[in-house]
Amino acid sequence: SSLYKIDLWGAPYFSVNSSGNISVKPFGPATLPHQEIDLLKVVKKASDPKSAGGLGLQLPLIVRLPDVLKNRLESLQSAFEFAIQSQGYESHYQGVYPVKCNQDRFVVEDIVEFGAGFRFGLEAGSKPELLLAMSCLCKGSTEALLVCNGFKDVEYISLALVARKLALNTVIVLEQEEEVDLVIDLSKKLSVRPVIGVRAKLRTKHSGHFGSTSGEKGKFGLTTTQILRVVKKLQQSGMLDCLQLLHFHIGSQIPTTTLLADGVGEAAQIYCELVRLGASMEVIDIGGGLGIDYDGSKSGKSDISVSYGLEEYAAAVVQAVRFVCDRKSVKHPVICSESGRAIVSHHSILIFEAVSGGAYNAPAMNTLSIQYFVEGLPEDLFADYQKLSAAAIRGEYDTCLLYADQLKQRCVEQFKEGSLGIEQLAAVDGLCELVSKEIGLSDPIRTYHVNLSVFTSIPDFWGIGQLFPIVPIHRLDQRPSTRGILSDLTCDSDGKINKFIGGESSLPLDELEGDGGFSSGGRYYLGMFLGGAYEEALGGVHNLFGGPSVVRVLQSDGPHSFAVTRAVPGPSCSDVLRVMQHEPELMFQTLKHRAEEFVHEDDDGMAHISLASGLARSFHNMPYLAAASSCCLTAD
Ligand code: PLP
Repeated sequence: SSLYKIDLWGAPYFSVNSSGNISVKPFGPATLPHQEIDLLKVVKKASDPKSAGGLGLQLPLIVRLPDVLKNRLESLQSAFEFAIQSQGYESHYQGVYPVKCNQDRFVVEDIVEFGAGFRFGLEAGSKPELLLAMSCLCKGSTEALLVCNGFKDVEYISLALVARKLALNTVIVLEQEEEVDLVIDLSKKLSVRPVIGVRAKLRTKHSGHFGSTSGEKGKFGLTTTQILRVVKKLQQSGMLDCLQLLHFHIGSQIPTTTLLADGVGEAAQIYCELVRLGASMEVIDIGGGLGIDYDGSKSGKSDISVSYGLEEYAAAVVQAVRFVCDRKSVKHPVICSESGRAIVSHHSILIFEAVSGGAYNAPAMNTLSIQYFVEGLPEDLFADYQKLSAAAIRGEYDTCLLYADQLKQRCVEQFKEGSLGIEQLAAVDGLCELVSKEIGLSDPIRTYHVNLSVFTSIPDFWGIGQLFPIVPIHRLDQRPSTRGILSDLTCDSDGKINKFIGGESSLPLDELEGDGGFSSGGRYYLGMFLGGAYEEALGGVHNLFGGPSVVRVLQSDGPHSFAVTRAVPGPSCSDVLRVMQHEPELMFQTLKHRAEEFVHEDDDGMAHISLASGLARSFHNMPYLAAASSCCLTAD
């Protein structure tokens, strides 16, 4: 576990158990030993064929753990409650979850349910997000905030006003100055008294990748001048009392509490100024930014590390707001945060399989065959070979490498001219590989092919180079014998993972069992951790690979320590085809008619009826590699 630093980035939810498998502590530090969940058992339960008592789901697989989600939510809440109590802060914390981090219905519903006891709400940034937030919050606390951010048109604002009519505690946050005119106009038309917030463009700048939206030139929010104009307009319309919330967001993954306190302090000054100007201010909404320490270094020195935990974050926020408000004798506001990454990252684990792990230059033939073909080389090349072996016998390794290189180059030239056979070229490649291995110079990094699409499941790795902990979920009680990079299923050279946390360019990995694992039944499962935020929401369908299967796993005190309460296969080939406007039903009919026309009963024993049923299954199955046993195009 120390090799993969699991104890650093995984605490308090992930560790290695005595069987060498990843173990999940669903309730964090409060988890009792018998409540721990062996991740390998979950994967087996989900993926084993139905006949073997499993659910028969195809990998890749997302294992969702609502208990972890609940623990994250409660930990955030108690961190703020502790900071509020210990600092004598005279109001409360009331968070919202930004649904863009993961809009999955069950994730959002769980958050609303788990957070109902402490008025936890939702944040939306578009019309469909608002619709889902409205419907989910009907089951939440009546005080829970529904924060409406993002670019807004007439329809968005009308919808937010309707939400207020439905007694949902909705706040329309102005992100563009023009939005205030629409809000004033539409609220009169719909006879709704809105609650309005403004998003301030702070001068405090977060310099990391995720901070590009912050600072004076940031994409979002109102400048000081614009805020003053908005206040004036609201005053003129007799609606200044509607302005009740100040919002800002300096970017995700805020690296340090120093930067955080700086931003919160600046925002608190604006808040106090709005109070002075006559707005009925109630809430300071500090946006997102509560970070995850993906590499466990706690350094705060890169985009994937933050130097604080939940407690330090909450303490810094409460202190910064209190300090400013006390100096201005302003009543302490309700503190709202829009933490997304910090709430949903841990609860979901992406499991995928390595399906082959060949060495870069594995010799294509054994030593005897190499010898046979090398001895048959044309005279001049054979003379080169003899010089090479003489140097090897003398133990002159540098000369050896030089001759090996020369030999290889000359063979390639002759192959291009057509005077060397492919077996001879392969034999010389094999020979050079053997020489490097003997000298201890062979490239030890292998390419493991994984049954996954990086574009679909880890889009931030491809798009912005974000790193996530990736670890085998079993065989962790033995020392990995090799190192590898991961290459995905897509026909795209960017579809590979060759950077890992800790700055490594390869990952310690085990040999696959059997002849390459996948077809032989020996399985090698890897997990990508801390990816519950953004990755599912951003993933695309490059090469038409759709999303993974999903299981929802709850801790349970039955015979196993867990129960699978929901199992959903990933999108089928038909589903992903539909995304690009294809019509799978028509496609199937076309192919079926073609089979009737061209395939006859006695052709290869494959009747068109069974061919059609095989085709039907191809449409129905997921696009990922299927184990040989579930292969579809058979004539049964
Ligand atoms: N709120 C707003 C306005 C955002 O733009 C974002 C994301 O960048 C968030 C909240 C969530 O941020 P995080 O995931 O860092 O908590």
